[in-house]
Amino acid sequence: MLGSLQHIVQEVNSTKNLNQVLALIVQRVKESITADACSIYLYDKNDLNFTLMATQGLNNTQVGQIKMGYGTGLVTLVAEQTDPINLSDAQEHPRFKLFTTLNEERFHGFVGVPISHHREVLGVLVAQSEASIHFSQDVVYFIITIAAQLASAIINAQARNQIEALSHPKKNLTRKYSAISQKHRPLMGQPGAPGVALGKAISINSSFDLNAIPDKSIENIAQEEEIFRCALEVVRKDVKALSFQLLSDGLPTEDVAIFDAYLLMLESNTLIDNTIERIQAGNWAAGALRETITEHIKLFSEMDNPYLQERIKDIKDLGQCIYNQMLDINESPLQKLSHDSIIVADDISATVLADIEKIHIAGIVLKNGSRTSHVAILARAMGIPTVVGVSELPIMQLDGSAMVADGYSGKVYISPSKNIIKEYSHLISQEKELSAQLLELTDKPAMTIDGVTIPLYANSGLIAGMTVSQENGAEGIGLYRTEYPFMIRQRFPGEQEQTATYQTVMASMAPKPVVLRTLDIGGDKSLNYFPIKEDNPFLGWRGIRVTLDHPEIFMTQLRAMLIASIGHNNLHILFPMISNVDELEESIKLLRRSQIGLLAEGYKINAPKIGVMVEVPSLIFQMRTIAPLVDFFSIGTNDLIQYLMAVDRNNANVAYLYESLNPAVLIAIKKIIDDTHKENKPVSVCGEMASDPLAVILLLGMSIDSLSTSVTSLPKIKWLIRNFTHQEAKELLAEVLTMKNAHEIKKMLIAQLENKGLGGLIRAGH
Ligand code: PEP
Ligand code: MG
Repeated sequence: MLGSLQHIVQEVNSTKNLNQVLALIVQRVKESITADACSIYLYDKNDLNFTLMATQGLNNTQVGQIKMGYGTGLVTLVAEQTDPINLSDAQEHPRFKLFTTLNEERFHGFVGVPISHHREVLGVLVAQSEASIHFSQDVVYFIITIAAQLASAIINAQARNQIEALSHPKKNLTRKYSAISQKHRPLMGQPGAPGVALGKAISINSSFDLNAIPDKSIENIAQEEEIFRCALEVVRKDVKALSFQLLSDGLPTEDVAIFDAYLLMLESNTLIDNTIERIQAGNWAAGALRETITEHIKLFSEMDNPYLQERIKDIKDLGQCIYNQMLDINESPLQKLSHDSIIVADDISATVLADIEKIHIAGIVLKNGSRTSHVAILARAMGIPTVVGVSELPIMQLDGSAMVADGYSGKVYISPSKNIIKEYSHLISQEKELSAQLLELTDKPAMTIDGVTIPLYANSGLIAGMTVSQENGAEGIGLYRTEYPFMIRQRFPGEQEQTATYQTVMASMAPKPVVLRTLDIGGDKSLNYFPIKEDNPFLGWRGIRVTLDHPEIFMTQLRAMLIASIGHNNLHILFPMISNVDELEESIKLLRRSQIGLLAEGYKINAPKIGVMVEVPSLIFQMRTIAPLVDFFSIGTNDLIQYLMAVDRNNANVAYLYESLNPAVLIAIKKIIDDTHKENKPVSVCGEMASDPLAVILLLGMSIDSLSTSVTSLPKIKWLIRNFTHQEAKELLAEVLTMKNAHEIKKMLIAQLENKGLGGLIRAGH
């Protein structure tokens, strides 16, 4: 059964259409467990019923007709209990409901298993037997395993069908499932960067996924044939050259034999002819290639020969090479970007974002990530409305579709209706009005009604951010992430290159303060020229741990910062990921050594202010020993929350646990602020919590000394502070600290903002 499990999952993942996916599952499960019937019922959110979607063994003319609401039938009982039900005679159960039209009378044995996705029951998978028998434990666990693995395939197929239905309404006449026809159901993700985008999707296929290549009809068959043949020829030549090279490098012939196998595949008539046939039938080259490769994979996976099974990976690799080559022949999707483009991708790199910076696109929608992923932080800095973690995003299928992305709620509408476009266009114009109004606050202080001032600094990392920071009224740079200039290069930047970068930052802000953070690579910030491969990168070699292990890299950076500060005297150096006093002492020692060296070389440098990031929870309990060594503290809430809550800040599956308003997080931050104040040291928040209006009310109540926000959030945070009294914030904090969860806290704070007419801070519109 284990072998068939892998086959079923593989086959299902390469099947595109929802009805085909479901039909395949029931057929394969029935064969694998030798049941007399196997059926799938899916929950239809529109009419609140479980609908029979596919069956093998029952009367299949009833597919789409049999419906059961909660409270009726055994199928719904499985969903209600979210637990399998295994009965030797279902007909004796009080909840059994006989559907004579299904010819169900002859069935007795029954096993039903819920199909769940992220705690939601999508449907029920049922197997039945004519004999009155209990299904064995093996069978039950087989069905549970299948159901668990298929939930996301069903979700993806549903999303694909929905999009298909929107782009080809006429083709979809045979749809039986009304939830899919619920045209304007948005895809749900996480808010990444505030704002609303209305535009056209441009798909970027960053990670190759054969199944993600859509079908596309073509006009010019000859051109697609040419694209395919050219790509094939380039790959063939590359493989030949590589095999020759490896042989001349002395690699044994048997190790190079795999390339001969590749060449045979590349030259095989089945690969070439089948793909060409599919192009001639009207599919574009990439779609035709996908069909051929999928067919090969299916053929090989059906053979119970381990050697041939191993070759599946080779076929996929070859498919990838040919496809990549086709992308090179075609225009790069980035060249198609314009002001109304919405990038749709799995993930995008800092390099791509740096390129996009000059184009001013409308929005970004990503399958991966969460609010504090670095891509979301960059997007926020660039003011691009962004939605992240849209798990059911069929990337390649969306290319060219009209789209609305709401960076406040995380909703993404595909081919939105006229009403939705109208509604969002209205919200966009309200947003513009609000931004214009907020700009009037640029030169005003971030002062509460009762006279408490909270200086607002900007987070940055890209040079272009400086002008925008000034325009938005930043009183300095509270966090300059130096890793970005490292990420967009092909090697470590040298002392002079770094000096030039930091000089631009400090000169453009002087005399306002600039906090330069030392290199914080690792985690999700990788340098392609310095790969770090670890099982748990966020718990591994990151930030100060890397730079202390590489004093040559660290000291080059420290020297560049010090030299760049000459004449500006606004340098603050911040150390990331410090978890104990020794790391801090060692960092300060290297800083002092750099200073002494530069003074000896004749540079007239002043001592910078030294700060430490509080982002590893162990520091919460070491304030007293750390404080005498530093001039200031900066709370990195992005990592602090990730480590306190044990939730990977990039993992969309657990994003719901990443909650800055969780009482534990609030109590921890309050303790940090109270303890630093006891030690007479200033403390700021530079994590994304400082850009979240709800959290800022509470930080104000905790008497935070300053905030460093994303540039585009800064005017909104100032507006918020100017509408509260410090006393009011303290009272709200006291009330919040009696509450038991983030949900309650959020509800109360949202009501406060709406009451004050500040709702535009947390949702689209005024
Ligand atoms: C943080 O962790 O809050 C922080 C500001 O650092 P980064 O997001 O760059 O890890
Ligand atoms: Mg951090």
